[in-house]
Amino acid sequence: MSDRPNLVRRTPWPESVSRAVTTPLQPSVVYSSPDPDALDDQYEGRAQGYTYGREGHPNADVLAQMIDRLEGGQGGLMTGSGMAAVTATMLGLLGQGDHIVAGDQLYGRSLRMLSRDLPKWGITATFADPTDVTAIEAAIAPNTKLLLIEAVSNPTLRLADMDGIERLARDRGLILVVDNTFTTPYGFPAYARGADVVIHSVTKLLAGHSDVTLGYVLARDPDARTAIYDTIVTLGLTPSPYDCWMAERGLYTFDMRFERAQANARALADLVAGHDAVEAVLYPGRSDHPDHNRAQALLGEAPGNMVSFRLAGGREAANAFTRAAPQLAFAPTLGDVGTTFSHPASSSHRGLTPEGRAALGITEGFFRVSVGCEPIALLTRDVTAALDAVAAIG
Ligand SMILES: *Cc1c(COP(=O)(O)O)cnc(C)c1O
Repeated sequence: MSDRPNLVRRTPWPESVSRAVTTPLQPSVVYSSPDPDALDDQYEGRAQGYTYGREGHPNADVLAQMIDRLEGGQGGLMTGSGMAAVTATMLGLLGQGDHIVAGDQLYGRSLRMLSRDLPKWGITATFADPTDVTAIEAAIAPNTKLLLIEAVSNPTLRLADMDGIERLARDRGLILVVDNTFTTPYGFPAYARGADVVIHSVTKLLAGHSDVTLGYVLARDPDARTAIYDTIVTLGLTPSPYDCWMAERGLYTFDMRFERAQANARALADLVAGHDAVEAVLYPGRSDHPDHNRAQALLGEAPGNMVSFRLAGGREAANAFTRAAPQLAFAPTLGDVGTTFSHPASSSHRGLTPEGRAALGITEGFFRVSVGCEPIALLTRDVTAALDAVAAIG
């Protein structure tokens, strides 16, 4: 036996009569139980205890409880990304032969999952316009089991008929799944308004700093929750403790970030609307929004931080805009603490034909802005300079 010191047996955590104020980061994948009886109790739910990281860990549970409080539910589950949350919901709740009716302007990867990936498991989908509940109803088939809806469409910011869709789901016994990423619980309290399952990409506004990918699922029905949980654990969709810990840190300021970004968005929407280089602006909080009344009914005083606009002019105008504003991140995401611009024609909607994009109103001059928390004077200066540069090319 070597007389080298044993470093493998972990050194005990130092004692302290004072307690840390922040949540500890616990990266342990495995947990040691006192004996097999105790492990039995854990697995049978007679005692609370962690076993193996993929099956759950404290940093995920702390974060899930915080988001639960925002949605007004309990028992939410964290996943490694927003798409993992969509995956766990679809594969957990549906099986071969089941059919989904979904909004036709979902997040791009969700659209792809429903149209190209789920069919491999015998799950099919029909897409319909969620601003029109009769279109959603018409798409229901005898084997329809679930509706997947986003309250605000991406990138055109149209408002789904959430009240009509909620009634329809109730009447027809369908599971209503709402991806509440864009609206957040402050914009649209999806769970309180009747969704059976609420999904978030926590990557976006909730975590808020573009440094983690995480998702969240909240299911009302305990059996549905169990099915989704088992799918997360079996398919390995579990989040990393570090990401959860980072997102918890971000979430402490969600309230302030949301209010600040929204106030900036209102101001920016008005600024953009008044500029000659701009053909149209879409902001649910403006009276010229096509669904303004519904926006007021659904979002109340919280039209959110997302603004879209169409420059007069095509790709040349779009290039001039981004080149004149290098301080504003031109990046295909949303919800960062700083303002980001995305250009759907070259990114999220590049797979569509120009005609397909035109039908949605997405021209080469179309930008979607995720307004951040900069001082508004700075944003006004930079965006005005960029719009002036567009106007200068005529
Ligand atoms: C980003 C996003 C997702 C996917 O989330 P990831 O964390 O990127 O996997 C799903 N739905 C919506 C509405 C999103 O914006």
